[in-house]
Amino acid sequence: MAMIKLDQVSKYYRSEETVSVGMKNISLEFELGEFVAVTGESGSGKSTLLNVISGLDGYEDGELFLFNEETSHYTIADWERYRGTYIGFVFQNYNIIDSYTVYQNVVLALEIQGYNKHERKQRALELIDKVGLTSHKNHKASKLSGGQKQRAVIARALAKDCPIIVADEPTGNLDSESAEQVMKLLHDIAKDKLIVVVTHDYDQVKEYATRKIKMHDGEVVEDKQIKKAEIKQLEQLAKPKSMTFFGLLRFALVNLFSTPKKLIFLMIMQILVISVFTIVYTNQVSEIREVGLEQSYIFPSVPETRVLIEKRDGTDFNQSEIDAFEELSYVNVVHPNAMNFYNETRLYIVKGQTDDYYNRGIITATDSVEALNQRDIEGSLPVAINEVVVSAYENFNIGDQIKLNPGNPWEYFGYEQDISIGTFIVTGIDKLDRDIIYFSEAFLAQETSNEAIIDYQVLSQIESSIQYESRINYNNQKNFLYSDPFLNLQSDIEVDGTGERTILTNQSIEFTTYDRYYNEVSYTMTGLSISVPEEPMNGIAVDADVFQVFKNAILEMLENQYTIEPKNYISLSVDGFYGGNKIIDSVDADLYKVYYPANISGSWREMQVFFLSFLAVILLTLFGLFLYSIVHAVTKNVMNARKKDFAIFRSIGANKSTLAKLVVLEQVLMSTIGFILTMIILQFISSNFTLLSADLQYMELKDYFILLFAFMFFGAWLGLRFNKKVFNQSVIETISQSRGE
Ligand code: ADP
Ligand code: MG
Repeated sequence: MAMIKLDQVSKYYRSEETVSVGMKNISLEFELGEFVAVTGESGSGKSTLLNVISGLDGYEDGELFLFNEETSHYTIADWERYRGTYIGFVFQNYNIIDSYTVYQNVVLALEIQGYNKHERKQRALELIDKVGLTSHKNHKASKLSGGQKQRAVIARALAKDCPIIVADEPTGNLDSESAEQVMKLLHDIAKDKLIVVVTHDYDQVKEYATRKIKMHDGEVVEDKQIKKAEIKQLEQLAKPKSMTFFGLLRFALVNLFSTPKKLIFLMIMQILVISVFTIVYTNQVSEIREVGLEQSYIFPSVPETRVLIEKRDGTDFNQSEIDAFEELSYVNVVHPNAMNFYNETRLYIVKGQTDDYYNRGIITATDSVEALNQRDIEGSLPVAINEVVVSAYENFNIGDQIKLNPGNPWEYFGYEQDISIGTFIVTGIDKLDRDIIYFSEAFLAQETSNEAIIDYQVLSQIESSIQYESRINYNNQKNFLYSDPFLNLQSDIEVDGTGERTILTNQSIEFTTYDRYYNEVSYTMTGLSISVPEEPMNGIAVDADVFQVFKNAILEMLENQYTIEPKNYISLSVDGFYGGNKIIDSVDADLYKVYYPANISGSWREMQVFFLSFLAVILLTLFGLFLYSIVHAVTKNVMNARKKDFAIFRSIGANKSTLAKLVVLEQVLMSTIGFILTMIILQFISSNFTLLSADLQYMELKDYFILLFAFMFFGAWLGLRFNKKVFNQSVIETISQSRGE
């Protein structure tokens, strides 16, 4: 029984116009133990014969028997198995993976066959020694001479432990000395194997050959025995195992890192694409998570960075409770004394001279330095009692001396009560332009500061509401009320206007303002004299004494509502609405009551979230596909250059699924490494880039996993697409193509 038998086999090459004969009507038998030299001039069909018997290329007419079995029904997988199990290849163009070392080239073949780690190493070193490359085992193949490359290829062919070795012009590119070495090496390993060597220089091989076949025009013109071959019977071969996952992983990594320039190039591209996508994703996420979360109009000046916690049983917070709150994610700092931050009214801030209109501003909240991030301010954080940070919006500069008043110090109309909180130095400017003044811990630690601020603020809130937000109702017209000390009134009240005046006595007017819940509060005063012009206009001036009466009355009405009972609050500082809402969800509602004064949930919140998420998914998918097409275009070129490597993988027995896994694994690794690097870079950048960090705070662990899986998925998809390409071509097509390059 012949191991390989060709019966009238023909092979034609068809192109669009022509049909050329590769070989025709070939009938030959090959046995284990033979060393066959195939000779003939160029174009005579030697390579075609070799490719057909080694299953690299198909045939048309006739039948090829392998171990007495017909092969006309063989599938691609059958041919792969045949090549993988039986054939070792040596080509003229040294089919070696240039980016691998000699050792890696050899070990790859062993790995593909599933040798264990210990065997792999031992056998690879033995084989490398056998071909005389021990001193070069860690050299990259691209750095070897032609003869050395060919010897490495032979070592790899041997590593496969296959019974048949085919060599197509293995010495074609070698000088005569190297050629001699290679032929001798083939002879040395020939025992127990079938060696088929194609050469146009028969002299090189005649010393070793047991048989000579000469071809001409696709036909065998001579087939003669040179010496007696010891014909062997094929022993049962071990079933080839497939590569283990760790083997694949190792070679995926070797593939990536053996071409560092490519790796860096592709990695930079990955990082760019991943960071652009991540930023867009983050932005979408932050928008969705913010939607419907709005500043409460009831507490317009409590920043969204403040959440208050009260104990239901009324007892004090102990240290371990405070620590537990500090541990919560989304909590930046716990302020044991919450009152500092629970205010809701304006402070008037004046720079330098009080009467300079342009040097003043309004502060809508006070807060502690602990609520500030250094990255959000210019200058330094307040330390001393008289140091503060204010918003840039109000035209203040670092070093400015400012005075804080709860009342309005540039009051035109005589009402002015200077109850200054004190004089301060601006040490920093809040880049986020919040209307908040940040006091030092030293200031807030003062026993009086807390209550003083609240008192002042309550007072000033009421005063300012009397001044600006209140209306006086006269003759069904609501008008501003102001106190005018310069009026020389014949009446208590003068209605602003033109023309002749009449004085009406014993009039009553109603005064209206709003409490902190925006409920109307009104007060009626009777027995007043009013000076009324012919044509009334906006504005009603009152005598300072009358104003004082109003004020006292209103103060009495409102004061209770503005006074905050001292309770056991702690205040948590969070990054924003989203964090604040997370706290509400995560605090034990049985033990604690959570106040989030700044936040109210918009009524359409869930609808909005759903709608925005829907849009975001579409947007992100389209954007992802766009980015993917860029990555694909770039990676394609790199992958094309690797086609030859893949063909080599296949020629040494890696089957389709092994290669598919390898390519996919490589791409998944690329995107995973790219993702990790991108995250590190983004974290680094975001600490210097407020806009990005503002968005990043909304990202949760699950978002990072979603992103990671998305990129891994894209990587796998990319890999599968390349895979298709790689397998569109037969091995020999790829190898001969790369030969032409
Ligand atoms: P050799 O190896 O002896 O030089 P080949 O087996 O490569 O010869 O080629 C035999 C014939 O088949 C030649 O006429 C050659 O032009 C033709 N041939 C080989 N490969 C192809 C191919 N891929 N496409 C078309 N014709 C081919
Ligand atoms: Mg040839």
